[in-house]
Amino acid sequence: MGFDYSGKTVGITGAASIKGIGFAIAKKFLQSHAAVGIFDLDKNALQQAVDALKVFGNVKGYVLDVSKESDVKKVIGAFYEDHKAIDVWINNAGIYPQCPLMDMESSAWDMTMNVNLKSVFLCTKEVFSYMREDGGVILNAASYASLISSAGSGAYAASKSGVYSLTKTLAAELAPYHIRVNGFIPGVIETGMTQEVVAERKDTLVSAIALRELGRPEDVANAAAFLASSEASYLTAAFIEVSGGKLCVQNPDFAWKKMEDMA
Ligand code: NAD
Repeated sequence: MGFDYSGKTVGITGAASIKGIGFAIAKKFLQSHAAVGIFDLDKNALQQAVDALKVFGNVKGYVLDVSKESDVKKVIGAFYEDHKAIDVWINNAGIYPQCPLMDMESSAWDMTMNVNLKSVFLCTKEVFSYMREDGGVILNAASYASLISSAGSGAYAASKSGVYSLTKTLAAELAPYHIRVNGFIPGVIETGMTQEVVAERKDTLVSAIALRELGRPEDVANAAAFLASSEASYLTAAFIEVSGGKLCVQNPDFAWKKMEDMA
Protein backbone atom coordinates (compact mmCIF):
# COMPACT_ATOMS: atom_id res chain seq x y z
CA MET A 1 0.00 0.00 0.00
CA GLY A 2 1.35 3.46 -0.88
CA PHE A 3 1.03 6.18 1.73
CA ASP A 4 1.39 9.92 1.39
CA TYR A 5 2.90 11.63 4.39
CA SER A 6 3.79 14.81 2.48
CA GLY A 7 4.06 17.74 4.88
CA LYS A 8 4.15 15.44 7.95
CA THR A 9 6.95 15.15 10.48
CA VAL A 10 7.74 11.74 11.96
CA GLY A 11 10.11 10.86 14.82
CA ILE A 12 11.34 7.31 15.41
CA THR A 13 13.45 6.12 18.35
CA GLY A 14 15.94 3.27 18.12
CA ALA A 15 16.33 3.68 14.37
CA ALA A 16 20.12 3.60 13.93
CA SER A 17 20.61 -0.09 13.30
CA ILE A 18 20.53 -0.58 9.54
CA LYS A 19 19.18 -4.12 9.99
CA GLY A 20 16.60 -3.01 12.56
CA ILE A 21 12.89 -2.30 12.64
CA GLY A 22 13.30 1.43 13.41
CA PHE A 23 15.51 1.93 10.36
CA ALA A 24 12.97 0.13 8.12
CA ILE A 25 10.19 2.31 9.54
CA ALA A 26 12.23 5.46 8.87
CA LYS A 27 12.83 4.33 5.28
CA LYS A 28 9.12 3.58 4.76
CA PHE A 29 8.07 7.03 6.01
CA LEU A 30 10.74 8.75 3.91
CA GLN A 31 9.53 6.84 0.84
CA SER A 32 6.06 8.08 1.77
CA HIS A 33 7.37 11.69 1.65
CA ALA A 34 7.50 12.49 5.40
CA ALA A 35 10.27 14.54 7.03
CA VAL A 36 11.89 12.08 9.44
CA GLY A 37 13.92 12.40 12.64
CA ILE A 38 15.73 9.31 13.87
CA PHE A 39 16.79 9.08 17.50
CA ASP A 40 19.34 6.68 18.93
CA LEU A 41 21.91 6.22 21.64
CA ASP A 42 24.55 4.93 19.23
CA LYS A 43 26.13 8.01 17.66
CA ASN A 44 28.23 6.23 15.01
CA ALA A 45 25.43 3.95 13.89
CA LEU A 46 23.12 6.96 13.77
CA GLN A 47 25.43 8.75 11.33
CA GLN A 48 25.64 5.63 9.15
CA ALA A 49 21.85 5.33 9.20
CA VAL A 50 21.41 8.97 8.19
CA ASP A 51 23.92 8.48 5.36
CA ALA A 52 22.01 5.41 4.15
CA LEU A 53 18.59 7.06 4.44
CA LYS A 54 19.24 10.49 2.99
CA VAL A 55 18.79 9.28 -0.59
CA PHE A 56 15.15 8.69 0.31
CA GLY A 57 14.38 12.20 1.58
CA ASN A 58 14.57 14.68 4.43
CA VAL A 59 16.13 12.89 7.42
CA LYS A 60 18.13 14.04 10.43
CA GLY A 61 19.69 12.07 13.28
CA TYR A 62 19.44 13.02 16.95
CA VAL A 63 21.60 11.39 19.61
CA LEU A 64 19.27 10.42 22.45
CA ASP A 65 19.17 8.03 25.37
CA VAL A 66 15.41 7.50 25.62
CA SER A 67 15.66 6.49 29.27
CA LYS A 68 17.07 9.86 30.44
CA GLU A 69 14.43 12.46 31.14
CA SER A 70 16.64 15.53 30.73
CA ASP A 71 17.94 14.26 27.34
CA VAL A 72 14.43 13.46 26.20
CA LYS A 73 13.22 16.98 26.94
CA LYS A 74 16.20 18.64 25.30
CA VAL A 75 16.44 16.47 22.18
CA ILE A 76 12.73 16.19 21.37
CA GLY A 77 12.55 19.95 21.92
CA ALA A 78 15.31 20.41 19.31
CA PHE A 79 13.42 18.14 16.87
CA TYR A 80 10.29 20.24 17.33
CA GLU A 81 12.26 23.45 16.77
CA ASP A 82 13.59 22.01 13.49
CA HIS A 83 10.09 21.36 12.10
CA LYS A 84 7.62 23.30 14.29
CA ALA A 85 5.47 20.14 14.33
CA ILE A 86 5.52 16.52 15.39
CA ASP A 87 2.75 14.59 13.61
CA VAL A 88 3.80 11.00 14.28
CA TRP A 89 6.03 9.68 17.06
CA ILE A 90 7.19 6.08 17.23
CA ASN A 91 8.57 4.66 20.49
CA ASN A 92 10.64 1.84 19.03
CA ALA A 93 13.94 1.77 20.95
CA GLY A 94 14.42 -1.34 23.02
CA ILE A 95 16.85 -3.83 24.53
CA TYR A 96 16.46 -7.58 24.90
CA PRO A 97 18.53 -8.93 27.77
CA GLN A 98 18.68 -12.72 27.95
CA CYS A 99 18.91 -13.74 31.57
CA PRO A 100 16.87 -15.99 33.87
CA LEU A 101 15.18 -13.82 36.50
CA MET A 102 16.94 -15.41 39.48
CA ASP A 103 20.33 -14.66 37.92
CA MET A 104 19.51 -11.09 37.00
CA GLU A 105 21.10 -8.15 38.80
CA SER A 106 18.64 -5.47 39.86
CA SER A 107 20.63 -2.94 37.82
CA ALA A 108 19.92 -4.97 34.65
CA TRP A 109 16.24 -5.17 35.63
CA ASP A 110 16.14 -1.39 36.11
CA MET A 111 17.85 -0.78 32.78
CA THR A 112 15.37 -3.01 30.95
CA MET A 113 12.42 -1.21 32.50
CA ASN A 114 13.95 2.22 31.89
CA VAL A 115 14.86 1.68 28.23
CA ASN A 116 11.79 -0.35 27.20
CA LEU A 117 9.01 1.03 29.36
CA LYS A 118 9.84 4.25 31.19
CA SER A 119 11.08 5.69 27.89
CA VAL A 120 7.62 5.32 26.38
CA PHE A 121 6.20 7.39 29.24
CA LEU A 122 8.99 9.99 29.06
CA CYS A 123 9.00 10.43 25.28
CA THR A 124 5.22 10.42 24.99
CA LYS A 125 4.93 13.03 27.74
CA GLU A 126 7.37 15.29 25.93
CA VAL A 127 5.84 14.73 22.49
CA PHE A 128 2.38 15.38 23.94
CA SER A 129 3.43 18.90 24.87
CA TYR A 130 3.93 19.55 21.12
CA MET A 131 1.02 17.44 19.79
CA ARG A 132 -1.70 18.60 22.15
CA GLU A 133 -2.85 21.52 19.97
CA ASP A 134 -2.97 19.81 16.57
CA GLY A 135 -3.33 16.08 17.39
CA GLY A 136 -1.21 13.29 15.99
CA VAL A 137 -0.35 9.62 16.24
CA ILE A 138 1.89 7.74 18.66
CA LEU A 139 2.98 4.17 17.98
CA ASN A 140 4.66 1.88 20.49
CA ALA A 141 6.78 -1.19 19.86
CA ALA A 142 5.18 -3.92 21.95
CA SER A 143 6.22 -7.52 21.42
CA TYR A 144 4.86 -11.02 21.25
CA ALA A 145 6.38 -11.12 24.75
CA SER A 146 3.71 -8.55 25.78
CA LEU A 147 1.21 -11.40 25.36
CA ILE A 148 3.21 -14.43 26.48
CA SER A 149 6.61 -14.45 28.14
CA SER A 150 9.58 -16.71 27.45
CA ALA A 151 11.63 -18.31 30.20
CA GLY A 152 15.02 -16.61 30.04
CA SER A 153 13.75 -13.15 29.14
CA GLY A 154 11.22 -12.38 31.87
CA ALA A 155 12.30 -8.78 32.49
CA TYR A 156 11.93 -8.02 28.79
CA ALA A 157 8.45 -9.59 28.77
CA ALA A 158 7.40 -7.64 31.87
CA SER A 159 8.59 -4.39 30.27
CA LYS A 160 6.75 -5.15 27.03
CA SER A 161 3.55 -6.11 28.89
CA GLY A 162 3.90 -2.68 30.45
CA VAL A 163 4.16 -1.10 26.99
CA TYR A 164 0.96 -2.90 25.99
CA SER A 165 -0.88 -1.58 29.05
CA LEU A 166 0.54 1.93 28.71
CA THR A 167 -0.60 2.07 25.06
CA LYS A 168 -4.19 1.35 26.09
CA THR A 169 -4.18 3.93 28.89
CA LEU A 170 -2.54 6.60 26.73
CA ALA A 171 -5.06 5.94 23.97
CA ALA A 172 -7.87 6.76 26.39
CA GLU A 173 -6.17 9.75 28.01
CA LEU A 174 -5.03 11.38 24.76
CA ALA A 175 -8.17 10.74 22.70
CA PRO A 176 -9.72 14.14 23.60
CA TYR A 177 -6.60 15.76 22.08
CA HIS A 178 -7.13 13.91 18.77
CA ILE A 179 -4.03 11.85 19.42
CA ARG A 180 -4.34 8.17 18.48
CA VAL A 181 -2.07 5.72 20.31
CA ASN A 182 -1.49 2.31 18.77
CA GLY A 183 1.12 -0.41 18.82
CA PHE A 184 2.72 -3.14 16.80
CA ILE A 185 3.56 -6.61 18.02
CA PRO A 186 6.47 -8.13 16.14
CA GLY A 187 6.82 -11.90 16.38
CA VAL A 188 10.31 -12.96 15.36
CA ILE A 189 11.81 -10.42 12.99
CA GLU A 190 15.39 -10.92 11.79
CA THR A 191 17.36 -7.99 13.24
CA GLY A 192 20.46 -7.49 15.38
CA MET A 193 18.26 -8.04 18.43
CA THR A 194 17.23 -11.56 17.43
CA GLN A 195 20.46 -12.59 15.69
CA GLU A 196 21.64 -14.82 18.56
CA VAL A 197 18.34 -16.59 19.26
CA VAL A 198 17.77 -17.17 15.56
CA ALA A 199 21.27 -18.64 15.19
CA GLU A 200 20.65 -20.92 18.19
CA ARG A 201 17.15 -22.21 17.39
CA LYS A 202 15.79 -21.09 14.05
CA ASP A 203 13.94 -24.36 13.35
CA THR A 204 12.07 -24.28 16.66
CA LEU A 205 11.14 -20.64 16.16
CA VAL A 206 9.91 -21.22 12.61
CA SER A 207 7.85 -24.28 13.61
CA ALA A 208 5.74 -22.02 15.87
CA ILE A 209 4.89 -19.69 12.97
CA ALA A 210 1.89 -20.49 10.73
CA LEU A 211 3.53 -18.92 7.66
CA ARG A 212 6.70 -20.89 8.46
CA GLU A 213 9.12 -18.03 7.97
CA LEU A 214 10.72 -15.32 10.07
CA GLY A 215 9.60 -11.74 9.57
CA ARG A 216 11.49 -8.85 7.97
CA PRO A 217 11.78 -5.35 9.42
CA GLU A 218 9.88 -4.11 6.35
CA ASP A 219 6.86 -6.18 7.41
CA VAL A 220 6.68 -4.18 10.63
CA ALA A 221 7.32 -0.90 8.79
CA ASN A 222 4.31 -1.54 6.53
CA ALA A 223 2.08 -2.05 9.57
CA ALA A 224 3.45 1.11 11.22
CA ALA A 225 2.81 3.20 8.10
CA PHE A 226 -0.78 1.96 8.04
CA LEU A 227 -1.41 2.52 11.77
CA ALA A 228 -0.19 6.12 11.55
CA SER A 229 -2.17 6.90 8.39
CA SER A 230 -5.58 8.49 7.89
CA GLU A 231 -6.73 5.06 6.62
CA ALA A 232 -6.53 4.00 10.27
CA SER A 233 -8.35 7.04 11.66
CA TYR A 234 -10.76 4.91 13.73
CA LEU A 235 -7.96 2.83 15.24
CA THR A 236 -6.72 3.73 18.67
CA ALA A 237 -5.61 1.40 21.48
CA ALA A 238 -5.12 -1.10 18.65
CA PHE A 239 -2.24 -3.47 17.98
CA ILE A 240 -1.21 -5.09 14.74
CA GLU A 241 0.50 -8.42 15.30
CA VAL A 242 3.22 -8.86 12.71
CA SER A 243 4.17 -12.43 13.43
CA GLY A 244 3.19 -14.64 10.48
CA GLY A 245 0.59 -16.22 12.76
CA LYS A 246 2.99 -17.16 15.56
CA LEU A 247 1.20 -19.56 17.94
CA CYS A 248 -2.19 -18.63 16.46
CA VAL A 249 -2.97 -22.21 17.44
CA GLN A 250 -1.04 -24.57 19.71
CA ASN A 251 0.20 -26.52 16.68
CA PRO A 252 0.83 -24.05 13.83
CA ASP A 253 2.82 -26.63 11.84
CA PHE A 254 -0.13 -29.08 11.68
CA ALA A 255 -1.28 -28.08 8.19
CA TRP A 256 2.28 -28.08 6.80
CA LYS A 257 2.96 -31.56 8.15
CA LYS A 258 -0.35 -32.81 6.74
CA MET A 259 0.52 -31.41 3.33
CA GLU A 260 4.01 -32.93 3.48
CA ASP A 261 2.48 -36.31 4.41
CA MET A 262 0.21 -36.13 1.36
CA ALA A 263 3.08 -35.28 -1.00
P1 NAD B 1 17.56 -3.58 17.32
O1 NAD B 1 18.39 -4.06 18.46
O2 NAD B 1 17.93 -3.97 15.95
O3 NAD B 1 17.45 -2.00 17.38
C1 NAD B 1 17.19 -1.34 18.59
C2 NAD B 1 17.75 0.07 18.50
O4 NAD B 1 17.47 0.71 19.75
C3 NAD B 1 19.27 0.10 18.32
O5 NAD B 1 19.59 0.97 17.25
C4 NAD B 1 19.80 0.62 19.66
O6 NAD B 1 20.99 1.39 19.54
C5 NAD B 1 18.63 1.47 20.12
N1 NAD B 1 18.64 1.71 21.56
C6 NAD B 1 18.90 0.83 22.56
N2 NAD B 1 18.86 1.45 23.75
C7 NAD B 1 18.56 2.76 23.51
C8 NAD B 1 18.39 3.92 24.33
N3 NAD B 1 18.53 3.84 25.66
N4 NAD B 1 18.10 5.08 23.74
C9 NAD B 1 17.97 5.17 22.39
N5 NAD B 1 18.13 4.13 21.56
C10 NAD B 1 18.42 2.93 22.12
O7 NAD B 1 16.05 -4.05 17.67
P2 NAD B 1 14.83 -4.37 16.71
O8 NAD B 1 14.75 -5.82 16.55
O9 NAD B 1 14.85 -3.50 15.54
O10 NAD B 1 13.63 -3.97 17.69
C11 NAD B 1 12.94 -2.74 17.62
C12 NAD B 1 11.81 -2.78 18.63
O11 NAD B 1 10.92 -3.87 18.32
C13 NAD B 1 12.28 -3.01 20.06
O12 NAD B 1 11.48 -2.26 20.96
C14 NAD B 1 12.03 -4.50 20.27
O13 NAD B 1 11.87 -4.84 21.62
C15 NAD B 1 10.78 -4.71 19.46
N6 NAD B 1 10.61 -6.10 19.05
C16 NAD B 1 11.48 -6.69 18.18
C17 NAD B 1 11.29 -8.02 17.83
C18 NAD B 1 12.16 -8.73 16.84
O14 NAD B 1 11.87 -9.91 16.55
N7 NAD B 1 13.21 -8.13 16.31
C19 NAD B 1 10.25 -8.76 18.40
C20 NAD B 1 9.40 -8.13 19.29
C21 NAD B 1 9.58 -6.78 19.60
